[in-house]
Amino acid sequence: MNILVINCGSSSLKFQLIDAQTEKLIAKGLCERIGIDGSRISYTPAGGEKTETAAPMKDHTDAIRLVLDALTNEKTGVVKSLDEIGAVGHRIVHGGENFAASTIITDEVIRAIEECNDLAPLHNPANLIGIAACKELMPETPMAAVFDTAFHQTMPEEAYLYGIPYEYYDKYKVRRYGFHGTSHSYVSHQAAKLLGRNYEDLKIIVCHLGNGASVSAVKNGKCVDTSMGLTPLEGLIMGTRSGDLDPAIIEYLCNKEGKSVGEILSELNKKSGVLGLSGGFSSDFRDLEDEFHKDSDFAVRTMNAFAYRVAKYIGAYTAAMNGVDAICFTAGLGENSGFIRDKICAYLGYLGIVLDPEANGKRGEDIDITTPDSRTRVLVIPTNEELAIARETYALVN
Ligand code: ADP
Repeated sequence: MNILVINCGSSSLKFQLIDAQTEKLIAKGLCERIGIDGSRISYTPAGGEKTETAAPMKDHTDAIRLVLDALTNEKTGVVKSLDEIGAVGHRIVHGGENFAASTIITDEVIRAIEECNDLAPLHNPANLIGIAACKELMPETPMAAVFDTAFHQTMPEEAYLYGIPYEYYDKYKVRRYGFHGTSHSYVSHQAAKLLGRNYEDLKIIVCHLGNGASVSAVKNGKCVDTSMGLTPLEGLIMGTRSGDLDPAIIEYLCNKEGKSVGEILSELNKKSGVLGLSGGFSSDFRDLEDEFHKDSDFAVRTMNAFAYRVAKYIGAYTAAMNGVDAICFTAGLGENSGFIRDKICAYLGYLGIVLDPEANGKRGEDIDITTPDSRTRVLVIPTNEELAIARETYALVN
C-alpha cells in the first residue's frame, strides 16, 4: 500500500509517497510560499530528476491539488491514479493530553486537535488545513494523524509537571509535552534493533540535534522524560531558540530594552540559540564548526555552550533512569557532525565511553561509534520521520 505523508506548515507543505510494504520512497517534494507571491513546487520521483515549477497556490488545497497532479502526471508521475494511494498520514505537532498514540482521523479527532490549537498556534492550524484539503480532494482515502507529542505521553507526573501553582495545570494543562516524538520513537526502536536487544530491556537517551533540538530518556520502551516543554522553546540551546533560561530574564529584558513580552519571546525563539550566542553570525552549525576550527571567539563560546548543555541533559537523564545503555545521535547535526559528537562525549568519561574515531567519521547509516570495550554504547541513527509516519499510518489502516 502506498502512503502519502503530509507535513503542513503555515506556508509550506512537505510530502513523501512511501510504499508501506517495502518501506521504499516513491517520490517526494515540497510546496513553498503557499498563499504568498512566488509560490513553487519541487518534486522528485525516486531515482529521477528533481523539477521545480512556479505555480500559483492561493491556499493549501491548491498545493495538495498540485502534489496529486505531480504524483499522477503522465510523464513524471509515479502512480496511474489516486486509487493507488491507500492512505494519508498527517504530521500533527500538538496532541496535548488528548492523544497518546497515532489515530485514524475522524470528525471527533479533528475537533480534539482543534482543542490543542492554543498550545501550538503556529503549527496545529496549518496541520488542520492540510487535513481539510486532503479530505476535500480525496474524500474516500483514510487518513491518520501522527503527533509529535504522543510518544512523550508516557512521561510520569514528576517529569511533566512544572513547579508552579497546580491550578495552572488543572485549568490550562500547563505541563511539559515534548516534541520530535516521532523521531525519538523511531530512533530508539532502531537503536534496539542495531544492538540486537529487546526494546523493553533498554535505557536509551536520544539526542535529536537539528535546527530544533531535544533530548529524551526512553526506559524499558517508554519515554520517561524529554527536554522540550509546553512549547519547543525549552531545553537545549538550538539553532535560533534559547532553550532553558531563568523566566525572570523576560521581565528584566522588557524593562531594559523597552520591549513587550511578545517581542522578547520572539527573540528567544528566532534570534537566540546558536545564532544569538554567536553575535548573529549564523544559526547553521556547519558555519560555526568552520569558525570554531579557526579559533574564532564567537564560535568557540557558542559550540562549547551548545555541547555542554547536551552533556548536562545526558547526565540528568542517566540519573533519571539510574543508568544508560545507549546514547543515540540523530538529525542534521547529530547525524553529520563527528566533531560535535566527540565534543559532547568528552564530558561522558564517567559512563566509560570510548569513541572509535573511524566509525565516528562515517555518515548515512545506523552505526555504533564506540569501541568494543566501551561501557556504554553511542550510536548514530539517521532519523526518518516520514517513514515513521508511514509505518504508523499503515498499521492503523491495515
Ligand atoms: P530541522 O529539521 O530542525 O530544520 P535538521 O535536522 O535538518 O533541522 O538539521 C539542520 C541543522 O543540521 C543545520 O543547523 C545544519 O547546520 C546542521 N547540519 C547539517 N549537516 C551538517 C554537517 N555536515 N555538519 C554539521 N552540521 C550539519
